[in-house]
Amino acid sequence: MKVDIPAVISMLEGSCLSLGVALDAQGAEEEDMTADDCAVLDQAIMNCDRCGWWYETGEMNTDGGDTLCGDCAEAAAKEGAGGRA
Ligand SMILES: [Zn+2]
Repeated sequence: MKVDIPAVISMLEGSCLSLGVALDAQGAEEEDMTADDCAVLDQAIMNCDRCGWWYETGEMNTDGGDTLCGDCAEAAAKEGAGGRA
C-alpha cells in the first residue's frame, strides 16, 4: 500500500515514536516505503541517535557518525571536553 509520507512526518516530528509506530497508524509497514519515500522522509526529519526524538533536519548535527539534535550535540561536546557542565 502507498504510505502517506507527509502524515508520517507530521506524526513523528517533535515526538520520540518509532517509524514503525507511525507507519502502523496507517496500517502500513516499513516494507511499504519506497526509496523515494525514504528520501523525502530523510530530507524532512531526522532521528537523534542519542535521545531518540525526531527533529527537522535543520537542527541536525553529525558528530563522529552519530546524528544528533542541537541539545545532544551540545551535551556531547561538553562530555568530549572532559565532562564539565
Ligand atoms: Zn537528541
